[in-house]
Amino acid sequence: MTTFALPCTTEKLKALCEQYPTPFHLYDEAGIRASLQRLQNAFAWAPGFREFFAVKATPNPFILKLLHAAGAGADCSSLPELLLAERVGIPGDHIVFTSNDTPAEEFVEARRLGATVNLDDLRHLPFLEASAGVPELVSYRYNPGPARTGNVIIGKPEEAKYGLTRPQLTEAYRLARDAGATRFGLHTMVASNELDPGYFIETARMLFEIVAELRADEGIDIEVANIGGGMGIPYRPDQTALDLDYIGEGVRALYESMDMAPLRLSAEMGRLITGPHGYLVTRVRHIKETYKRYAGLDASMANLMRPAIYGAYHHITVVGKQELPATATYDVTGSLCENNDKFAIDRELPELAPGDLLVIHCAGAHGHSMGFNYNGKLRSAEVLLGADGTSRLIRRAETVDDHFATIDFGELAGFVPTTGADAAAASAMPEVDRPQSVR
Ligand SMILES: *Cc1c(COP(=O)(O)O)cnc(C)c1O
Repeated sequence: MTTFALPCTTEKLKALCEQYPTPFHLYDEAGIRASLQRLQNAFAWAPGFREFFAVKATPNPFILKLLHAAGAGADCSSLPELLLAERVGIPGDHIVFTSNDTPAEEFVEARRLGATVNLDDLRHLPFLEASAGVPELVSYRYNPGPARTGNVIIGKPEEAKYGLTRPQLTEAYRLARDAGATRFGLHTMVASNELDPGYFIETARMLFEIVAELRADEGIDIEVANIGGGMGIPYRPDQTALDLDYIGEGVRALYESMDMAPLRLSAEMGRLITGPHGYLVTRVRHIKETYKRYAGLDASMANLMRPAIYGAYHHITVVGKQELPATATYDVTGSLCENNDKFAIDRELPELAPGDLLVIHCAGAHGHSMGFNYNGKLRSAEVLLGADGTSRLIRRAETVDDHFATIDFGELAGFVPTTGADAAAASAMPEVDRPQSVR
Protein backbone atom coordinates (compact mmCIF):
# COMPACT_ATOMS: atom_id res chain seq x y z
CA MET A 1 0.00 0.00 0.00
CA THR A 2 1.19 3.47 -0.83
CA THR A 3 -0.32 6.76 0.20
CA PHE A 4 0.30 9.85 -1.87
CA ALA A 5 1.04 12.97 0.15
CA LEU A 6 1.80 16.50 -0.95
CA PRO A 7 5.39 17.70 -0.45
CA CYS A 8 4.13 20.67 1.58
CA THR A 9 1.00 21.93 3.30
CA THR A 10 -2.10 22.85 1.32
CA GLU A 11 -1.55 26.52 2.26
CA LYS A 12 2.03 26.41 1.04
CA LEU A 13 0.98 24.84 -2.24
CA LYS A 14 -1.67 27.50 -2.78
CA ALA A 15 0.95 30.15 -2.06
CA LEU A 16 3.27 28.58 -4.65
CA CYS A 17 0.47 28.79 -7.20
CA GLU A 18 0.21 32.52 -6.50
CA GLN A 19 3.89 32.81 -7.35
CA TYR A 20 4.09 30.39 -10.29
CA PRO A 21 1.17 30.14 -12.73
CA THR A 22 -0.13 26.60 -13.29
CA PRO A 23 0.69 24.24 -14.78
CA PHE A 24 4.16 23.61 -13.38
CA HIS A 25 6.26 20.70 -12.22
CA LEU A 26 7.21 20.85 -8.55
CA TYR A 27 10.18 18.82 -7.25
CA ASP A 28 10.78 18.02 -3.61
CA GLU A 29 14.51 18.32 -2.93
CA ALA A 30 14.42 16.51 0.42
CA GLY A 31 12.55 13.58 -1.11
CA ILE A 32 14.96 13.28 -4.04
CA ARG A 33 17.93 13.36 -1.68
CA ALA A 34 16.34 10.72 0.57
CA SER A 35 15.73 8.36 -2.37
CA LEU A 36 19.35 8.66 -3.48
CA GLN A 37 20.51 8.08 0.09
CA ARG A 38 18.41 4.90 0.39
CA LEU A 39 20.00 3.49 -2.75
CA GLN A 40 23.50 4.47 -1.61
CA ASN A 41 22.88 2.91 1.82
CA ALA A 42 21.63 -0.34 0.30
CA PHE A 43 24.89 -0.70 -1.64
CA ALA A 44 27.23 0.93 0.88
CA TRP A 45 28.91 -2.48 1.32
CA ALA A 46 29.91 -2.61 -2.36
CA PRO A 47 33.39 -1.23 -3.04
CA GLY A 48 33.21 2.04 -4.97
CA PHE A 49 29.47 1.82 -5.58
CA ARG A 50 28.13 4.79 -7.51
CA GLU A 51 24.69 5.76 -8.76
CA PHE A 52 24.89 7.55 -12.11
CA PHE A 53 21.54 9.33 -12.31
CA ALA A 54 19.82 8.71 -15.65
CA VAL A 55 19.71 12.27 -16.96
CA LYS A 56 16.88 11.57 -19.38
CA ALA A 57 14.49 11.05 -16.46
CA THR A 58 14.82 14.65 -15.21
CA PRO A 59 17.29 16.61 -17.34
CA ASN A 60 17.34 19.72 -15.23
CA PRO A 61 20.78 21.04 -14.23
CA PHE A 62 19.60 22.08 -10.77
CA ILE A 63 18.42 18.52 -10.08
CA LEU A 64 21.70 17.15 -11.49
CA LYS A 65 23.70 19.54 -9.32
CA LEU A 66 21.93 18.57 -6.12
CA LEU A 67 22.32 14.88 -6.94
CA HIS A 68 25.98 15.37 -7.77
CA ALA A 69 26.53 17.18 -4.47
CA ALA A 70 25.05 14.10 -2.79
CA GLY A 71 27.50 11.76 -4.52
CA ALA A 72 25.70 10.73 -7.70
CA GLY A 73 27.16 10.88 -11.18
CA ALA A 74 25.30 11.24 -14.45
CA ASP A 75 24.22 8.65 -17.01
CA CYS A 76 23.93 10.40 -20.37
CA SER A 77 22.47 9.09 -23.60
CA SER A 78 23.00 11.95 -26.02
CA LEU A 79 25.22 14.91 -26.84
CA PRO A 80 22.97 17.49 -25.15
CA GLU A 81 22.87 15.36 -22.01
CA LEU A 82 26.67 15.12 -22.00
CA LEU A 83 26.95 18.89 -22.39
CA LEU A 84 24.42 19.41 -19.62
CA ALA A 85 26.47 17.21 -17.27
CA GLU A 86 29.56 19.20 -18.20
CA ARG A 87 27.83 22.52 -17.52
CA VAL A 88 26.75 21.26 -14.11
CA GLY A 89 30.42 20.62 -13.40
CA ILE A 90 30.21 16.84 -13.19
CA PRO A 91 33.67 15.41 -13.89
CA GLY A 92 34.21 12.71 -16.51
CA ASP A 93 34.81 9.92 -14.03
CA HIS A 94 31.30 10.62 -12.69
CA ILE A 95 29.73 10.34 -16.15
CA VAL A 96 28.71 7.21 -18.03
CA PHE A 97 27.55 7.38 -21.61
CA THR A 98 25.01 4.68 -22.43
CA SER A 99 23.70 5.26 -25.90
CA ASN A 100 22.59 3.28 -28.91
CA ASP A 101 22.72 3.95 -32.64
CA THR A 102 25.28 6.55 -31.61
CA PRO A 103 26.66 9.23 -33.96
CA ALA A 104 30.45 9.62 -34.05
CA GLU A 105 30.43 13.14 -32.61
CA GLU A 106 28.75 11.88 -29.45
CA PHE A 107 31.52 9.33 -28.90
CA VAL A 108 34.05 12.10 -29.47
CA GLU A 109 32.33 14.29 -26.89
CA ALA A 110 32.06 11.44 -24.36
CA ARG A 111 35.78 10.77 -24.79
CA ARG A 112 36.63 14.47 -24.47
CA LEU A 113 34.80 14.55 -21.14
CA GLY A 114 36.52 11.37 -19.98
CA ALA A 115 33.19 9.56 -19.55
CA THR A 116 32.90 5.79 -19.35
CA VAL A 117 31.43 4.65 -22.65
CA ASN A 118 29.03 1.71 -22.65
CA LEU A 119 29.09 0.29 -26.16
CA ASP A 120 25.85 -1.12 -27.52
CA ASP A 121 27.27 -3.31 -30.29
CA LEU A 122 30.26 -5.28 -31.47
CA ARG A 123 30.73 -2.91 -34.41
CA HIS A 124 30.85 0.16 -32.21
CA LEU A 125 34.46 -0.38 -31.16
CA PRO A 126 35.99 0.15 -34.63
CA PHE A 127 33.55 3.03 -35.08
CA LEU A 128 34.65 4.57 -31.79
CA GLU A 129 38.30 3.85 -32.63
CA ALA A 130 37.97 5.69 -35.94
CA SER A 131 36.30 8.75 -34.44
CA ALA A 132 37.68 9.08 -30.94
CA GLY A 133 40.25 6.33 -30.36
CA VAL A 134 39.95 3.29 -28.10
CA PRO A 135 39.56 4.25 -24.46
CA GLU A 136 41.53 2.52 -21.74
CA LEU A 137 38.23 1.36 -20.20
CA VAL A 138 35.77 -0.30 -22.59
CA SER A 139 32.33 -1.31 -21.36
CA TYR A 140 29.64 -3.29 -23.17
CA ARG A 141 25.91 -3.56 -22.73
CA TYR A 142 24.64 -7.12 -22.45
CA ASN A 143 21.22 -8.20 -23.74
CA PRO A 144 20.30 -11.62 -22.32
CA GLY A 145 17.58 -12.17 -24.94
CA PRO A 146 15.20 -15.03 -24.14
CA ALA A 147 17.20 -15.83 -20.99
CA ARG A 148 15.26 -13.07 -19.20
CA THR A 149 11.72 -11.79 -19.33
CA GLY A 150 11.19 -8.07 -19.65
CA ASN A 151 8.06 -6.10 -18.83
CA VAL A 152 5.50 -3.87 -20.45
CA ILE A 153 7.60 -0.72 -20.64
CA ILE A 154 10.88 -2.15 -21.92
CA GLY A 155 9.43 -5.21 -23.70
CA LYS A 156 11.05 -8.63 -24.13
CA PRO A 157 14.86 -8.52 -24.14
CA GLU A 158 15.04 -10.52 -27.39
CA GLU A 159 12.86 -7.89 -29.05
CA ALA A 160 14.93 -5.05 -27.61
CA LYS A 161 17.37 -3.23 -29.87
CA TYR A 162 19.89 -2.80 -27.08
CA GLY A 163 23.07 -4.63 -26.23
CA LEU A 164 25.09 -7.63 -27.35
CA THR A 165 24.34 -11.33 -27.19
CA ARG A 166 26.37 -13.52 -24.86
CA PRO A 167 28.66 -14.94 -27.62
CA GLN A 168 29.14 -11.42 -29.03
CA LEU A 169 30.16 -10.21 -25.61
CA THR A 170 33.14 -12.60 -25.42
CA GLU A 171 34.14 -11.64 -28.95
CA ALA A 172 33.78 -7.95 -28.12
CA TYR A 173 36.09 -8.05 -25.11
CA ARG A 174 38.69 -9.97 -27.11
CA LEU A 175 38.54 -7.34 -29.83
CA ALA A 176 38.75 -4.53 -27.29
CA ARG A 177 41.81 -6.12 -25.69
CA ASP A 178 43.41 -6.57 -29.09
CA ALA A 179 42.69 -2.93 -29.86
CA GLY A 180 44.55 -1.85 -26.73
CA ALA A 181 41.89 -1.56 -24.03
CA THR A 182 43.20 -2.58 -20.63
CA ARG A 183 40.16 -2.06 -18.40
CA PHE A 184 36.70 -3.50 -18.91
CA GLY A 185 33.15 -2.83 -17.82
CA LEU A 186 29.89 -4.76 -18.18
CA HIS A 187 26.44 -3.20 -18.30
CA THR A 188 22.89 -4.37 -18.63
CA MET A 189 19.39 -2.96 -18.37
CA VAL A 190 16.66 -5.49 -18.86
CA ALA A 191 13.64 -4.11 -17.04
CA SER A 192 11.95 -0.79 -16.56
CA ASN A 193 9.70 0.27 -13.69
CA GLU A 194 10.20 -3.16 -12.15
CA LEU A 195 8.78 -3.64 -8.65
CA ASP A 196 9.94 -7.22 -8.04
CA PRO A 197 13.06 -6.95 -5.86
CA GLY A 198 14.16 -10.47 -6.84
CA TYR A 199 14.52 -9.27 -10.42
CA PHE A 200 17.48 -7.05 -9.53
CA ILE A 201 19.17 -9.77 -7.52
CA GLU A 202 18.83 -12.07 -10.54
CA THR A 203 20.23 -9.35 -12.78
CA ALA A 204 23.28 -9.12 -10.52
CA ARG A 205 23.65 -12.90 -10.59
CA MET A 206 23.50 -12.85 -14.38
CA LEU A 207 26.26 -10.22 -14.54
CA PHE A 208 28.38 -11.96 -11.89
CA GLU A 209 28.22 -15.22 -13.84
CA ILE A 210 29.51 -13.46 -16.94
CA VAL A 211 32.25 -11.76 -14.93
CA ALA A 212 33.32 -15.18 -13.59
CA GLU A 213 33.23 -16.77 -17.06
CA LEU A 214 35.25 -13.99 -18.67
CA ARG A 215 37.75 -14.19 -15.85
CA ALA A 216 38.14 -17.98 -16.12
CA ASP A 217 37.85 -18.50 -19.88
CA GLU A 218 39.34 -15.35 -21.38
CA GLY A 219 41.51 -13.90 -18.64
CA ILE A 220 39.44 -10.71 -18.94
CA ASP A 221 38.93 -8.93 -15.66
CA ILE A 222 35.74 -6.92 -15.54
CA GLU A 223 36.42 -4.00 -13.24
CA VAL A 224 32.92 -2.51 -13.01
CA ALA A 225 29.46 -4.04 -13.40
CA ASN A 226 26.58 -1.63 -14.01
CA ILE A 227 23.15 -3.04 -13.12
CA GLY A 228 21.47 -0.30 -15.17
CA GLY A 229 18.29 1.52 -14.20
CA GLY A 230 14.74 0.30 -14.09
CA MET A 231 13.90 0.09 -10.41
CA GLY A 232 10.20 0.82 -10.23
CA ILE A 233 8.16 3.07 -8.00
CA PRO A 234 4.61 2.62 -6.76
CA TYR A 235 2.43 4.70 -9.06
CA ARG A 236 -0.77 3.07 -7.73
CA PRO A 237 -2.07 2.99 -4.17
CA ASP A 238 -2.06 -0.84 -4.20
CA GLN A 239 1.65 -1.02 -5.07
CA THR A 240 4.52 -1.10 -2.60
CA ALA A 241 7.92 0.54 -2.88
CA LEU A 242 10.93 -1.71 -3.53
CA ASP A 243 12.83 -2.79 -0.43
CA LEU A 244 16.26 -1.52 -1.45
CA ASP A 245 17.99 -3.00 1.58
CA TYR A 246 16.63 -6.42 0.65
CA ILE A 247 18.03 -5.99 -2.88
CA GLY A 248 21.36 -4.72 -1.56
CA GLU A 249 21.70 -7.64 0.85
CA GLY A 250 20.68 -10.15 -1.82
CA VAL A 251 23.28 -8.81 -4.21
CA ARG A 252 25.86 -8.76 -1.44
CA ALA A 253 25.27 -12.44 -0.65
CA LEU A 254 25.89 -13.32 -4.31
CA TYR A 255 28.88 -10.99 -4.57
CA GLU A 256 30.51 -12.74 -1.62
CA SER A 257 29.57 -16.32 -2.47
CA MET A 258 30.62 -15.85 -6.09
CA ASP A 259 33.89 -14.24 -5.02
CA MET A 260 33.42 -11.07 -7.04
CA ALA A 261 35.82 -8.76 -5.17
CA PRO A 262 37.27 -6.33 -6.15
CA LEU A 263 34.53 -5.81 -8.79
CA ARG A 264 32.94 -2.36 -8.49
CA LEU A 265 29.19 -1.96 -8.85
CA SER A 266 27.28 0.90 -10.30
CA ALA A 267 23.69 1.75 -11.18
CA GLU A 268 21.93 4.27 -13.38
CA MET A 269 18.51 4.69 -11.83
CA GLY A 270 16.32 7.56 -12.94
CA ARG A 271 12.73 6.96 -11.90
CA LEU A 272 13.62 5.57 -8.47
CA ILE A 273 15.39 8.80 -7.53
CA THR A 274 13.14 11.57 -8.84
CA GLY A 275 9.89 9.87 -9.89
CA PRO A 276 7.95 10.01 -6.62
CA HIS A 277 9.23 13.50 -5.79
CA GLY A 278 7.90 15.38 -8.79
CA TYR A 279 4.34 16.71 -8.93
CA LEU A 280 2.46 18.21 -11.84
CA VAL A 281 0.49 21.09 -10.36
CA THR A 282 -2.49 22.06 -12.52
CA ARG A 283 -5.94 23.60 -12.34
CA VAL A 284 -9.33 22.52 -13.58
CA ARG A 285 -10.24 24.78 -16.49
CA HIS A 286 -13.62 23.39 -17.54
CA ILE A 287 -16.09 20.75 -16.44
CA LYS A 288 -17.98 19.15 -19.29
CA GLU A 289 -20.80 16.58 -19.29
CA THR A 290 -21.68 14.61 -22.42
CA TYR A 291 -21.68 10.82 -22.53
CA LYS A 292 -19.15 11.05 -19.70
CA ARG A 293 -18.03 13.71 -17.27
CA TYR A 294 -14.80 15.47 -18.16
CA ALA A 295 -12.54 17.65 -16.09
CA GLY A 296 -10.36 19.62 -18.51
CA LEU A 297 -7.09 20.84 -17.01
CA ASP A 298 -4.63 23.57 -17.92
CA ALA A 299 -1.98 20.83 -18.24
CA SER A 300 -1.98 18.35 -21.11
CA MET A 301 -0.10 15.23 -22.17
CA ALA A 302 2.58 17.60 -23.42
CA ASN A 303 3.46 18.02 -19.73
CA LEU A 304 3.16 14.33 -18.79
CA MET A 305 2.60 11.75 -21.47
CA ARG A 306 2.95 8.52 -19.47
CA PRO A 307 -0.83 7.98 -19.11
CA ALA A 308 -1.30 8.49 -22.85
CA ILE A 309 1.55 6.30 -24.07
CA TYR A 310 1.71 3.58 -21.41
CA GLY A 311 -1.82 3.75 -20.04
CA ALA A 312 -0.02 4.56 -16.80
CA TYR A 313 -1.90 5.36 -13.62
CA HIS A 314 -0.94 8.59 -11.88
CA HIS A 315 -2.57 9.39 -8.57
CA ILE A 316 -4.44 12.69 -8.37
CA THR A 317 -4.99 14.80 -5.27
CA VAL A 318 -7.59 17.56 -5.33
CA VAL A 319 -5.95 20.18 -3.16
CA GLY A 320 -8.19 21.33 -0.33
CA LYS A 321 -10.68 18.52 -1.00
CA GLN A 322 -8.52 15.69 0.35
CA GLU A 323 -11.07 14.95 3.07
CA LEU A 324 -14.10 14.93 0.78
CA PRO A 325 -15.53 11.62 -0.46
CA ALA A 326 -14.91 10.58 -4.08
CA THR A 327 -18.50 10.86 -5.25
CA ALA A 328 -17.98 11.71 -8.91
CA THR A 329 -16.33 9.94 -11.84
CA TYR A 330 -14.28 11.89 -14.35
CA ASP A 331 -12.06 11.52 -17.34
CA VAL A 332 -9.36 14.04 -16.47
CA THR A 333 -8.13 15.53 -19.72
CA GLY A 334 -5.82 18.07 -21.27
CA SER A 335 -6.58 20.35 -24.19
CA LEU A 336 -4.66 18.53 -26.92
CA CYS A 337 -6.57 17.49 -30.05
CA GLU A 338 -5.88 13.83 -29.30
CA ASN A 339 -8.37 11.68 -27.49
CA ASN A 340 -5.63 9.92 -25.53
CA ASP A 341 -4.82 13.24 -23.87
CA LYS A 342 -6.21 11.97 -20.58
CA PHE A 343 -4.46 11.89 -17.22
CA ALA A 344 -7.10 9.53 -15.87
CA ILE A 345 -10.08 7.63 -17.21
CA ASP A 346 -13.14 6.92 -15.04
CA ARG A 347 -11.34 8.25 -11.97
CA GLU A 348 -13.40 8.62 -8.82
CA LEU A 349 -12.74 12.01 -7.31
CA PRO A 350 -14.48 14.55 -5.14
CA GLU A 351 -16.89 16.78 -7.03
CA LEU A 352 -14.73 19.15 -9.12
CA ALA A 353 -15.26 22.77 -10.14
CA PRO A 354 -13.36 25.10 -12.45
CA GLY A 355 -10.37 26.60 -10.63
CA ASP A 356 -9.79 23.53 -8.43
CA LEU A 357 -6.12 22.83 -7.88
CA LEU A 358 -4.99 19.30 -8.76
CA VAL A 359 -1.71 17.59 -8.06
CA ILE A 360 -0.73 14.70 -10.30
CA HIS A 361 1.72 12.51 -8.44
CA CYS A 362 4.87 10.63 -9.45
CA ALA A 363 5.62 12.99 -12.33
CA GLY A 364 9.25 13.59 -11.36
CA ALA A 365 10.84 11.18 -13.83
CA HIS A 366 10.06 10.85 -17.52
CA GLY A 367 7.50 13.63 -16.96
CA HIS A 368 8.56 17.11 -18.05
CA SER A 369 11.43 15.53 -19.97
CA MET A 370 9.09 13.62 -22.28
CA GLY A 371 7.24 16.84 -23.08
CA PHE A 372 6.68 17.96 -26.61
CA ASN A 373 5.19 20.82 -28.59
CA TYR A 374 2.57 19.10 -30.73
CA ASN A 375 -0.55 21.24 -31.09
CA GLY A 376 1.58 24.25 -30.19
CA LYS A 377 1.56 23.23 -26.54
CA LEU A 378 4.20 25.04 -24.54
CA ARG A 379 6.22 23.19 -21.96
CA SER A 380 5.65 24.17 -18.37
CA ALA A 381 7.97 25.60 -15.74
CA GLU A 382 9.88 23.53 -13.20
CA VAL A 383 10.04 24.61 -9.57
CA LEU A 384 12.27 23.14 -6.87
CA LEU A 385 10.95 23.08 -3.32
CA GLY A 386 14.04 23.24 -1.10
CA ALA A 387 14.55 21.20 2.03
CA ASP A 388 14.20 24.51 3.93
CA GLY A 389 10.79 25.24 2.41
CA THR A 390 12.04 27.86 -0.04
CA SER A 391 11.13 27.56 -3.69
CA ARG A 392 13.14 28.28 -6.79
CA LEU A 393 12.22 28.47 -10.44
CA ILE A 394 14.64 26.00 -12.04
CA ARG A 395 13.22 26.29 -15.56
CA ARG A 396 10.79 28.93 -16.74
CA ALA A 397 7.78 28.03 -18.82
CA GLU A 398 8.18 28.18 -22.59
CA THR A 399 6.80 31.23 -24.33
CA VAL A 400 5.38 31.56 -27.80
CA ASP A 401 8.68 33.21 -28.75
CA ASP A 402 10.56 30.09 -27.61
CA HIS A 403 8.19 28.03 -29.69
CA PHE A 404 8.91 30.13 -32.79
CA ALA A 405 12.65 30.48 -32.08
CA THR A 406 13.63 28.03 -34.82
CA ILE A 407 11.68 29.90 -37.48
CA ASP A 408 13.13 32.86 -39.40
CA PHE A 409 10.21 35.24 -39.88
CA GLY A 410 12.44 37.63 -41.88
CA GLU A 411 12.87 34.82 -44.36
CA LEU A 412 9.08 34.36 -44.33
CA ALA A 413 8.52 38.01 -45.34
CA GLY A 414 10.59 37.49 -48.48
CA PHE A 415 9.08 34.12 -49.26
CA VAL A 416 6.81 33.95 -52.29
CA PRO A 417 5.04 30.62 -52.74
CA THR A 418 6.11 28.90 -55.94
CA THR A 419 3.32 27.73 -58.15
CA GLY A 420 3.26 25.16 -60.91
CA ALA A 421 2.80 28.04 -63.37
CA ASP A 422 6.05 29.69 -62.22
CA ALA A 423 7.88 26.42 -62.62
CA ALA A 424 6.52 26.01 -66.12
CA ALA A 425 7.53 29.53 -67.08
CA ALA A 426 11.04 28.95 -65.82
CA SER A 427 11.32 25.62 -67.55
CA ALA A 428 13.57 25.25 -70.57
CA MET A 429 11.46 22.37 -71.77
CA PRO A 430 10.00 22.82 -75.23
CA GLU A 431 6.30 23.73 -75.27
CA VAL A 432 5.24 20.38 -76.65
CA ASP A 433 6.90 18.37 -73.84
CA ARG A 434 5.25 20.23 -70.98
CA PRO A 435 2.81 18.22 -68.98
CA GLN A 436 -0.79 19.01 -69.74
CA SER A 437 -1.52 20.18 -66.24
CA VAL A 438 0.78 23.25 -66.32
CA ARG A 439 -0.54 24.74 -69.55
C1 LIG B 1 16.11 4.97 -19.29
C2 LIG B 1 17.36 4.36 -18.86
C3 LIG B 1 17.74 4.38 -17.51
C4 LIG B 1 16.86 4.91 -16.43
O1 LIG B 1 15.65 4.21 -16.35
P1 LIG B 1 14.70 4.39 -15.09
O2 LIG B 1 13.52 3.54 -15.42
O3 LIG B 1 14.37 5.83 -15.03
O4 LIG B 1 15.47 3.93 -13.90
C5 LIG B 1 18.98 3.87 -17.18
N1 LIG B 1 19.79 3.35 -18.13
C6 LIG B 1 19.46 3.30 -19.43
C7 LIG B 1 20.40 2.72 -20.40
C8 LIG B 1 18.24 3.80 -19.83
O5 LIG B 1 17.90 3.74 -21.13
